[in-house]
Amino acid sequence: MDTTSLTGKDLAAALNAETKQRAAARAEQGAAPRLVLVVANDDPASGWYVKSLQRAADRLGIACDTVDLGATATAEAIRAKLAELSADPAVDAVMLQTPLPAGVALDEVSVAIAAAKDVDGVSPLSLGLLATGLPGFPPATAEAVVELAKHHGIPLAGRHVAVVGRSNVVGKPLAQLLLAENATVTVCHSRTADLPAVTSAADVVVAAAGRAGLITGDHVRAGAAVIDVGTNEGPDGGIVGDVDAASVEGRAGALSPVPGGVGPVTTALLMRHVVVAAETARGE
Ligand code: NAP
Repeated sequence: MDTTSLTGKDLAAALNAETKQRAAARAEQGAAPRLVLVVANDDPASGWYVKSLQRAADRLGIACDTVDLGATATAEAIRAKLAELSADPAVDAVMLQTPLPAGVALDEVSVAIAAAKDVDGVSPLSLGLLATGLPGFPPATAEAVVELAKHHGIPLAGRHVAVVGRSNVVGKPLAQLLLAENATVTVCHSRTADLPAVTSAADVVVAAAGRAGLITGDHVRAGAAVIDVGTNEGPDGGIVGDVDAASVEGRAGALSPVPGGVGPVTTALLMRHVVVAAETARGE
């Protein structure tokens, strides 16, 4: 069977073209949309991600600043900065980077990000809004999975989707978004008994476990679609997903590549959220 590549590049380009126009319109009105990244770590992967977000924002005409609180910042200091930025009318969007300092939990600090500026949907309030179907920003990675599937014409309504991973940033919010698309959702995790049996029963498998090569051909029904969210360091230092592409290709009907699948769509949706936050703040 031919396996279609679910590339995210075309969709990301289309989203970015629209975001760039909307950002330019805001700049003409007096102020470009402004995103602030809050960092409290000295992790190289986080540093790389911050630089890639800054480059993406630059390309789209979005102002992007970084506030570095240092790797030993306390929960109080992080919360205070997030509350200050949330109250600052010159700031449209706030993103807190992970990892956080040892002993600081994401929930106890992200709660200080105003929902209207929480463009990556990480706060308990944003996750609650998503779970109840109220307006708010969903986590961009979870949204990217749904948008990528729609873009490639993969039906979700009435289909069985197996999500591998139950984190608050990817697996759980993705399950909510898929329910909103009328999919039948099974959420798997490290204690799922017989993972291949569960995923093989699904029409769509989403791998979001952060384990390179976890999903093999034995986990996938012939013809099913597989969306790979994983970003793991490969043997040669490059990025590899959670899917063992060699054994899944030729069996799955469709597979998203890593890199070049979910990743570019995630960044494009984040930047779109920044523009939406700016427009909403000005009552548009
Ligand atoms: P996480 O917080 O570490 O959560 C991983 C989840 O996978 C957990 O629920 C865990 O189960 C489950 N899991 C781990 N090993 C498993 C196994 N052998 N079988 C079944 N389930 C297993 O990770 P995350 O933040 O959700 O991220 C997941 C992946 O997505 C990572 O590779 C991350 O880098 C990537 N990611 C990509 C993007 C993007 O834009 N492309 C954005 C964000 C994250 P338990 O709950 O039982 O521990």
